[in-house]
Amino acid sequence: MSSTWHILGAGSLGSLWACRLARAGKAVRLILRDEQRLTAYQQVGGLTLVEQDQPHHYAIPAETAQAHGPIHRLLVACKAYDAAPAIAHLAPRLAEGAEIVLLQNGLGSQDEVAEQVPHARCIFASSTEGAYREADWQVRFAGHGFNWLGDPNQPTRPEWFDDLHDSGIPAEWTVDILTRLWRKLALNCAINPLTVLHDCHNGGLLEHLGEVSALCDELSQLLHRSGQPQAADDLDEEVQRVILATAANYSSMYQDVRSGRRTEIHYLLGHACKAAARHGLQLPQLQHLHQRLVDNLRARGLPSA
Ligand code: NAP
Repeated sequence: MSSTWHILGAGSLGSLWACRLARAGKAVRLILRDEQRLTAYQQVGGLTLVEQDQPHHYAIPAETAQAHGPIHRLLVACKAYDAAPAIAHLAPRLAEGAEIVLLQNGLGSQDEVAEQVPHARCIFASSTEGAYREADWQVRFAGHGFNWLGDPNQPTRPEWFDDLHDSGIPAEWTVDILTRLWRKLALNCAINPLTVLHDCHNGGLLEHLGEVSALCDELSQLLHRSGQPQAADDLDEEVQRVILATAANYSSMYQDVRSGRRTEIHYLLGHACKAAARHGLQLPQLQHLHQRLVDNLRARGLPSA
């Protein structure tokens, strides 16, 4: 098995991971969207990671999905809605037993990917690190955090896991990755859509705590029904703690909407509503929130799924 890290998507998180792995001497190859993006990247000659205001340049080789050669280890670092279509192009290059790490927020995209590549092992990740693109091929590391990785179908830690520690990527292997992803999804559903609808930073929700609590109550019901009772523990309290701790920040969904970018609604609130419907669970606040958000996005001309 080759130990090269192929990284699909040289955006915020993809670049953050690629630069740290390359800096530690690991073999890294970027997979870019198409020939046009590859040419643009080659003109710049590499990625720049800005940490504590210090830019560092990494001349990481890149290719498109159409390049040849098998892929044994792949980090998928695109948005949730791009993951399955991107993997469809790469599937013929994925070796038997290839390992794919999925960095997507929310739930649903991981299963869409896994369905397409039954011959690969899909490892789910949940990240609280923060990075954003300052320009094409230049990313700022904005928030230290942590990464949990796990495989709902197989508890064994992959052999390459120490690559992450060697590269200064804070990470832990967990058998409860689904609980972590559900918890993060619930926090997101309780905060992010309301910041869009009330047009406010996270702290603005302190004026709408009744609405937030009612959502937490329904989300807790959903988590219990979905076999994730631990993800429901003290949800309302944690949501309020997050709102206070991040009061001055704008949520990722708010920022996406404000910049006219597509949101990941389908894999967050949309996934929660779909799961509720599958369980025959009536969650009127959550469903109403979803409808209001869909209407809001449509009115702005943004995709609502
Ligand atoms: P991003 O900055 O928008 O980067 C996504 C990258 O994927 C872009 O560079 C895009 O290419 C590339 N891409 C899309 N389709 C592709 C394809 N078919 N082939 C190759 N590349 C493709 O997104 P992000 O912020 O890193 O987010 C990635 C995931 O991590 C999301 O699910 C997000 O919610 C999650 N996450 C992000 C953060 C964060 O701080 N950024 C934190 C936690 C979780 P182009 O450059 O050509 O558009």
